[in-house]
Amino acid sequence: MMNELENINETVHREHLIKLAKKYGTPLYIYDFFKIKKQYMKMKNAFSGIKNLIINYACKANTNLNILKFLQKLGSGLDTVSIQEVELGLKAGFKPKKIIFTPNCVSIQEIKKAVGFGVRITLDNLSILEQFGENYSDYSVGIRINPHIMAGGNLKISVGHIDSKFGISYYQIPHMKRILKNTGLKIEGFHMHTGSDISNIKTFLEVSKVLFQTAIDFKNLDYIDFGSGFKVPYTKNDIKTDLTSLSNYITEKFKKFCKNYGNKMTLIFEPGKFLVSESGYFLVHVNVIKHTTSTVFAGVDSGFNHFLRPMFYDAYHCIENISNPNGRFRFYTVVGYICESDTFGLNRKIKEIREGDILCIKNAGAYCFSMSSNYNSRYRPAEVMILNGKDFLIRKRETMQDIIRNIVEINM
Ligand SMILES: *Cc1c(COP(=O)(O)O)cnc(C)c1O
Repeated sequence: MMNELENINETVHREHLIKLAKKYGTPLYIYDFFKIKKQYMKMKNAFSGIKNLIINYACKANTNLNILKFLQKLGSGLDTVSIQEVELGLKAGFKPKKIIFTPNCVSIQEIKKAVGFGVRITLDNLSILEQFGENYSDYSVGIRINPHIMAGGNLKISVGHIDSKFGISYYQIPHMKRILKNTGLKIEGFHMHTGSDISNIKTFLEVSKVLFQTAIDFKNLDYIDFGSGFKVPYTKNDIKTDLTSLSNYITEKFKKFCKNYGNKMTLIFEPGKFLVSESGYFLVHVNVIKHTTSTVFAGVDSGFNHFLRPMFYDAYHCIENISNPNGRFRFYTVVGYICESDTFGLNRKIKEIREGDILCIKNAGAYCFSMSSNYNSRYRPAEVMILNGKDFLIRKRETMQDIIRNIVEINM
């Protein structure tokens, strides 16, 4: 670990954010790198009972190269889902073997590129497994299992889970074994990622059982990868994944498994949201206050082109008026400037908002910038990191050049 990472302090407070909005303009993404480190250490410490633990940052949550570099220096590995993310990881300094490529429905050509880079590969369908085995029988891979687990903890097939496009079904393992035998390909690990926020750790525990049961039949495995889905709180009293209970259980079961299994195994987690969500603040400027017959709108200088989660997932993100901390609470619907319904927060209790105020949207570190677009021909926002109390621009705001860069203009 680099020395300069040792003494980072949590420095983000209201005045600081206001200052940064003035300095860099809005809309603006700000990431507190201390918080990222804190979350990383929290997870590491929670599972300190496991000797061979690897935390792979699932970088689709936020691919700014500086976040990747920071986590690499902290000792993290990387979980990637596209060949471009693999290349970003290598660029950030991750050794190939610290990168796992876990794609879904990509072409064999893309997987061949990953072999060229020498990264670890997780496959999740039998057709590709067969093609892979025929080409690279000596390049061990991981297998993503679809455990068909329903919340409530019963192991059974549900129609919904059969329809999931992820993973090789738990019930297709005999077919998988046949492919391995026919091609001579070896398996180095098993992987699962159920995808959902783990609010109830019971589901997670059931899934882990399936993985252990599956793995015990295969020799010389290196790792078991439990994926992610760690939930972070979005409001003050929101539930989050109970790391302590989860680690107590997993640590015990994993140790027991290793004892039965015989060789040294590594346990992998691949959190995205857990590591970066809470580090992020999204600052927007209030352009207009608009009263209608039913509501008061606060219209801001951004929209779902920059911050998609509320419109796409119905996600709740806390919104604070950082310009008016002493104002009285009133109710607002905070909306963006995109020309279709574009709501950040419906009927929210917020300190009185005036035109010109700066609003801060919380939990903006994961799946926010990385899902942004140029819809309505708007520029994507700038990104700033805070490290040791200092702020650094880590992505420039786009300009008209970026909007027209790849347009090929035809003379007419
Ligand atoms: C997206 C993803 C993750 C991260 O999920 P979070 O909910 O952000 O922690 C982990 N593993 C894989 C394979 C993923 O696709």
